[in-house]
Amino acid sequence: MIRQEELTDAVEHAAQVASERAGDVDATGTFPRQTIDSLAQEGLLGLVSASDVGGRGAGMREASAVVERLARSCASSALVTTMHYCATAVMEAHGPVELRREIAAGRSLGTLAFSETGSRSHFWAPLSTATAEGDDVLLDASKSWVTSAGEADFYVWSSRPMAGDGASTMWLVRAGQAGIQVADGFNGLGMRGNSSKPMTAKRAAVAREAMLGSDGGGFDLMMGVVLPWFQVLNASASVGIAEAAVSATAAHAGRTRFEHLGQSLADQPVTRHHIARMRIQTDMARALLMDTLQAVETNRPDTMLRVLEVKAAASEAVVDVTELAMRVCGGAAFRKELGVERNFRDARAATAMAPTTDALYDFIGKAVCGLPLF
Ligand SMILES: Cc1cc2nc3c(=O)[nH]c(=O)nc-3n(C[C@H](O)[C@H](O)[C@H](O)COP(=O)(O)OP(=O)(O)OC[C@H]3O[C@@H](n4cnc5c(N)ncnc54)[C@H](O)[C@@H]3O)c2cc1C
Repeated sequence: MIRQEELTDAVEHAAQVASERAGDVDATGTFPRQTIDSLAQEGLLGLVSASDVGGRGAGMREASAVVERLARSCASSALVTTMHYCATAVMEAHGPVELRREIAAGRSLGTLAFSETGSRSHFWAPLSTATAEGDDVLLDASKSWVTSAGEADFYVWSSRPMAGDGASTMWLVRAGQAGIQVADGFNGLGMRGNSSKPMTAKRAAVAREAMLGSDGGGFDLMMGVVLPWFQVLNASASVGIAEAAVSATAAHAGRTRFEHLGQSLADQPVTRHHIARMRIQTDMARALLMDTLQAVETNRPDTMLRVLEVKAAASEAVVDVTELAMRVCGGAAFRKELGVERNFRDARAATAMAPTTDALYDFIGKAVCGLPLF
C-alpha cells in the first residue's frame, strides 16, 4: 500500500510535467504522452493494481486524489488517467494475470470503448456484435468516442452478447488488433489532448478467452465495477478543474489593479461575491465527493444514489464555477494567458460524458421515486 507522502510526491512530480505541457496539449490537441510517461515512472499507472501483481494496491480514494491533482494542471491528462483506472478496475476483476502485471509495472495504458454510433450515450445498450467463428470471435462495431484511442495499449470493449442473455458482453482488445481502425484526429472544444476518437471493428478476430466475465454479463460489470470508478473519478476531475479556476480567478483579482481608483479587482464587492460563490460550489462538490468515497468504502445503503449524484453534481458545479471565472476575470479571461478559458472549455466535457448529466437526473429521479432504473 502506498504511503500518503509517497503518493503526494509522486503525483506532484507528474502534475509538474502536466502543467508544463498543458498549454501546448490544449493548443495543438496532442495526446499528453510525457505526462502519462511520468505517471508510469512514478508508479501511478499501477496505483490501483493489486500488490500481488506488483501494483500499489491503492483504492478509489487515492485514485481520486491523483485525478483531481492532475485536473488542476491538465484536464486531458486527468481524463486519460480516469479511463485508465476504470479499465484497470475491470482487469483486476477479470483480466489475464500477465496484463495485470504489465499495468502494475506502468507498461500498459487502458481505456473504455463503450459509446457507439447507434446507441450514442446509452452505453449500456451496445449494438455492436460478437460472432463465434471456429475458435475465434469476430467483433464488429462502430465506437463513437474512445479516450486515448490509438494511444492505449488495451481497450475494454463492449458488444451485444454472443449467445447469452443480457444486454452486453465485455472483451479485451489489444492495440494493433487486426480488423480495428482508429479514426484520424480529435478536434474538441475542451479536453483537447484526450484523443477521444471513433474506432471501428470489422470482423476483428479475438480469442474466446478475450471475453471479460461471462457472455451477457457486461451490464453487471458496467454497473457494478465501471460505474462507481467512472463516476467518482470524473467528479474528481471536475473538482480539480473547479479548484484551478478558483485559484486562477482569486490570484487575478488580487493582482489586477484599477490604478485610477487605487483598488484591485478583489476590492470590488461584486467580484468577491462571485468568488465566494465559486468557492462554495467547489466545496459542495468536494464534500459530496468525500461522502461518496466514504459510502463506497463502507458499503453504505445509499452508495448507488451517491455514485449517481456525484458526477451530476460535480459536472454542474464545474460549469457554474468556470462560467463565473470567465465573468470575474473579464476580457483577461477571454484570452488564453490566464488559463481560465481552458478550464471553461474542459469543464464542459463532464456533462456530455455518459451517463450524461441529464440521464443521471433521470436515473436519480427514478431512484428517489422508487422506480426501476432500467
Ligand atoms: C471528452 C470526451 C471523452 C469521451 N471518452 C469516452 C470513452 O473513453 N469511452 C466511451 O465509451 N465514451 C466516451 N465518450 C462518449 C460519452 O461517454 C458519450 O457517449 C457521448 O459524449 C455522447 O454524445 P452523443 O452526441 O452521442 O450524445 P446523445 O446520446 O446524442 O445525447 C444528446 C443529448 O441528449 C441527452 N440525453 C440522451 N439520453 C437521455 C436520457 N435518457 N435522458 C435525458 N437526456 C438524455 C444527453 O444528455 C445529451 O444532452 C467521451 C465523450 C467526451 C465528450
